[in-house]
Amino acid sequence: MDQENTILVVDDSPVNIQSIAAVLKDDYKLKVATNGARALEILENDDAVDLILLDVMMPEMNGYEFLEKCQSNPSTKDIPVIFITGNNGAEDEEKGLLAGAVDYITKPIRPAIVKARVKIHMTIKMQRDALQYNAMHDMLTGLYNRHHLSAEGARKFAKAIRQKSDFSVVMADIDHFKNVNDTYGHIVGDIVLKAVADVFSKNNRVEDIVARFGGEEFVILLEDCDAHDAKNKAESFRKDVEAQLPAGVKVTASFGLTNISPMYKSLEEMLKDADTALYKAKEDGRNKVVCYSLDMQGEE
Ligand code: GH3
Ligand code: MG
Ligand code: MG
Repeated sequence: MDQENTILVVDDSPVNIQSIAAVLKDDYKLKVATNGARALEILENDDAVDLILLDVMMPEMNGYEFLEKCQSNPSTKDIPVIFITGNNGAEDEEKGLLAGAVDYITKPIRPAIVKARVKIHMTIKMQRDALQYNAMHDMLTGLYNRHHLSAEGARKFAKAIRQKSDFSVVMADIDHFKNVNDTYGHIVGDIVLKAVADVFSKNNRVEDIVARFGGEEFVILLEDCDAHDAKNKAESFRKDVEAQLPAGVKVTASFGLTNISPMYKSLEEMLKDADTALYKAKEDGRNKVVCYSLDMQGEE
């Protein structure tokens, strides 16, 4: 296991922390806290914790209470927790596992057992993280995939409607991409796709979603962004795509966009109108940005 994986050890006794740290320090990055409040603070400021080793009996906030707090927070609920405790009755163990701990280790600790159990749970955690990443991302470009776009986009759409905030949808499609494949082959085609994806993913705010929508189609969701700013952003994407020459190939893209309004009932409706605007950009000669307007209806 590489040192990149981080374990948070929570125990009110510094001596216990030391003995656990001695067992794990060569294989993991360790963070320690002698009470629940401090441990929650660490979790809040550091999203790198992969696993928590948790004492049950601690003054102020005990292990069960701490675990409950972790589980009620979306950003910490998936971090596996192993109880390390002096309570070694079957009932205690059952209570710990029912509370949601993935394992239960009793004190006095046996170093080889702690090592082995931590390793098993760290491996499972890493495998789950990898599965989750793959379920959300497109392999070739590293962008979000369509599945994640739909799920996260629906949430962002609902939030924008609820808060009456701005929200824009940009749809982009590489121009004459079939020619790139036909002329230079699929491998170069893939390099071009990746380069265009990189243009879209850089210079974005963390809350924006950039996704590969289909073969050579991309969708960018811009939160708190009005039609004017979205148009400027798409225009700068357009210029950046045109300016680069991936694998020496000249490439351009067309863009269609639309901005939220009360007439929209779902993200899908916005995507449809962004697509209509994109179709218009293609029709008008490609390498263009077109904003959706009502008079485009029925032109498809
Ligand atoms: P237009 O300007 O009208 O968009 O023309 P186009 O040639 O870009 O559009 P068309 O939809 O006819 O062709 C899209 C091409 O994208 C066809 C398909 O082989 C290619 N493509 C889709 N996914 C991939 C991929 O993952 N890798 C590569 N190399 N090509 C892909
Ligand atoms: Mg195309
Ligand atoms: Mg296409």
